[in-house]
Amino acid sequence: MSLKLESWGRFPKHPQVAHPVHWPADVESGLASISTLGSGGGIAYGKGRSYGDSCMAESDHVLAMDAMDRVLAVDWQTGRITAQAGLTLDALIRFALPRGWFLPVTPGTKFVTLGGAVANDVHGKNHHVMGTFGRHVRRLTMYRSSEGVVECSMQSNAPLFAATVGGLGLTGVLLSVELQLRRVASSRVAQRSIKFGDLDAFFELATQHDAQHEYAVAWVDCLATGSRAGRGHYIVGDHADDGNLEIASARPRRMPIDPPFSLVNTLSLRAFNALYYHRQRAMEASATVGYDPFFYPLDKVLHWNRIYGRAGFQQYQCVVPRAHAREAVRSVLREIARSGTGSFLAVLKQCGDIASPGLLSFPLPGTSLALDFAQHDRANERLFASLDAIVHEAGGRLYPAKDAHMSARHFRGAYPAWEQVEALRDPKLMSRFWRRVAG
Ligand SMILES: Cc1cc2nc3c(=O)[nH]c(=O)nc-3n(C[C@H](O)[C@H](O)[C@H](O)COP(=O)(O)OP(=O)(O)OC[C@H]3O[C@@H](n4cnc5c(N)ncnc54)[C@H](O)[C@@H]3O)c2cc1C
Repeated sequence: MSLKLESWGRFPKHPQVAHPVHWPADVESGLASISTLGSGGGIAYGKGRSYGDSCMAESDHVLAMDAMDRVLAVDWQTGRITAQAGLTLDALIRFALPRGWFLPVTPGTKFVTLGGAVANDVHGKNHHVMGTFGRHVRRLTMYRSSEGVVECSMQSNAPLFAATVGGLGLTGVLLSVELQLRRVASSRVAQRSIKFGDLDAFFELATQHDAQHEYAVAWVDCLATGSRAGRGHYIVGDHADDGNLEIASARPRRMPIDPPFSLVNTLSLRAFNALYYHRQRAMEASATVGYDPFFYPLDKVLHWNRIYGRAGFQQYQCVVPRAHAREAVRSVLREIARSGTGSFLAVLKQCGDIASPGLLSFPLPGTSLALDFAQHDRANERLFASLDAIVHEAGGRLYPAKDAHMSARHFRGAYPAWEQVEALRDPKLMSRFWRRVAG
């Protein structure tokens, strides 16, 4: 019980005491001991791939779920799988891909648990055709302190299901998830990458190509200014059909040190972003690549979050409705370029119209932008205040999974269904995020 956990951004600094869960019965005893030990509620913790404080408990005592990782049932004819909530997407891929099945939706890292994927209703590069993760969940089993083990789905106990998908782990501790996988004929992805010179060109490319491909995303040089503002690479992809169903075998490297200060500064950022932009000489390049480099390029280096030093970092991810997206994203990028900060990879993505079954799901039809900032208290506060003003003026919102700064006012305005989730919250569960925005 002495293991101390952090979130991916290593900010804010509230080390979490882990209470390991190996079996469903451990959840009840874990929550009971958190009640007696800490002050305030506990929360489930998957792999801590959330950047801010949504995976941190108000009491700083969490139920560590990743040992509850058994596959419980599977039908290879239909691709329907039921597994315990601590199973990672990585383990699920290793199990299912050789049989010709893949995740219907995946975030940019495979080191997340099923429980975490449901609780944040994660989305991926195919949001415009597949919607969010929650759309593919057929049934959930969870522990609620007042009722014991309960089940819910879109058909039965539907209000609990809607509050739990994207419900930030507040409605109960997920024990198992039944998921519909999607068929693939290959573990490889046919990818096409097109260089674009400014933000208008990105919007044109997305309009022209998104609908024709399952996956679409863009990387943007957030420090480019003037006529080059918003330049980047637009990448589309589709599962190949070559019958190759191999599991990725490359072993990830490990960030070998934990530097006391951030290795990311204006100089290194400018150099990296310019190099990355020019690394593809031709305006367009096509290749068939493995699923690992296509979906999970950042997983190549374990603990890459240490690059930002011990103070940590924050990710800023917003989504802005279509009608105002172009102008709002332009203004956000202008503010960031002016500040001289930002990340190696700013990710731009058009979200589609497919509604999520979850009440607090993040994506809305429009444009999402995500990028990282080394933690500098005052500079981030100032910059985020100006970005927030642009996003909220445009009717957009921030992603709770990435957040460590959103105000209660902005949260409540952007997620009006929060009270329905609060009404179904398990009184033994409370995260630092929820205390900040809804408490
Ligand atoms: C490199 C990187 C890329 C990413 N790319 C994307 C992306 O493309 N799209 C996207 O949507 N997200 C993305 N994310 C965010 C990540 O997918 C989510 O934060 C995800 O929820 C993390 O899952 P986890 O298992 O680590 O859960 P944690 O971060 O540990 O917890 C997340 C939430 O899930 C809850 N939770 C966890 N387990 C359970 C359980 N058993 N029962 C109830 N609640 C539970 C926690 O209480 C918490 O509220 C990315 C993160 C990283 C680090």
